[in-house]
Amino acid sequence: MKRGMKCGKCNRSMYLEKSSHVIDGLRWICKHHKSSPLSVRKGSIFARSHTPLAKWLEFILRFAQGLQLRQLDLITDGIAASSKTLTSMTKILRKACVAGLKRLRKTGMKIGGRHRFVVVDESKFAHKRKYHRGRCGNTWRRDCQWVFGMLEVDGTSRRPILRLVKDRSRKTLIGRIVRHVRPKTSVVTDEWRAYKDQLSRHGYYQFSVCHKMNFVDPETGAHTQHIERAWQTYKTEIWRHRGNRTPEFLTMHLKMIEWHHWLGRNHHYGVLGRLFHDIKKVMKR
Ligand SMILES: [Zn+2]
Repeated sequence: MKRGMKCGKCNRSMYLEKSSHVIDGLRWICKHHKSSPLSVRKGSIFARSHTPLAKWLEFILRFAQGLQLRQLDLITDGIAASSKTLTSMTKILRKACVAGLKRLRKTGMKIGGRHRFVVVDESKFAHKRKYHRGRCGNTWRRDCQWVFGMLEVDGTSRRPILRLVKDRSRKTLIGRIVRHVRPKTSVVTDEWRAYKDQLSRHGYYQFSVCHKMNFVDPETGAHTQHIERAWQTYKTEIWRHRGNRTPEFLTMHLKMIEWHHWLGRNHHYGVLGRLFHDIKKVMKR
């Protein structure tokens, strides 16, 4: 919320006055235009919401605690009365996070490097409907939603880059790797032919693994099992939202996973701290 407010009519500083007419109990008043008060929410992400601010705080806390919020639990706990309200509250917070991620993406998201270990994997997150290969063309949005993931695992830290791609051709996948993975990285891939001989050509050390095999990188000691498990976690997170798997929805979820690992978990005050940071950034000046 803003610390100060200027009058819309004369641009002079306003003062806060207690008021029983508004949900927040306070509003901005101009000495010269007492009939034109302003909401304390003006210019904040809460401006269009009618939810009490105390409930908003509870919601923000719950949002920070887990990316998966069950609407039923939130309604039972009295945070909001309807799922429609919760949906719009969720949208507001996600928007703040996505804006934070956008700022990070502008600075470039790179993982890996010498003695670092990155696993790449393509996963199909689409309907289980059968389709014939080579027929995808313009219908990939409906039939072929490939998520291309690049994941750096370093101790307990995870740095995922998860992107929706239109196909898993050599050009698409190698292009993404070159954009996000630093040269000299040890890259673990499956045996998909698109990778064959391509990675070493671009300055990477390539290890391909059969998915059922355990694999330990001799140099870094990193274990592909960890990575397979992490990848499985993301997949489960996304798959939980069955029935709504439009590309837009999927992209948003991938962004939230990136936000959580790159920004939320790395903030000095944890996920909640980062959430407040990103909410503050949204505030109009
Ligand atoms: Zn005024």
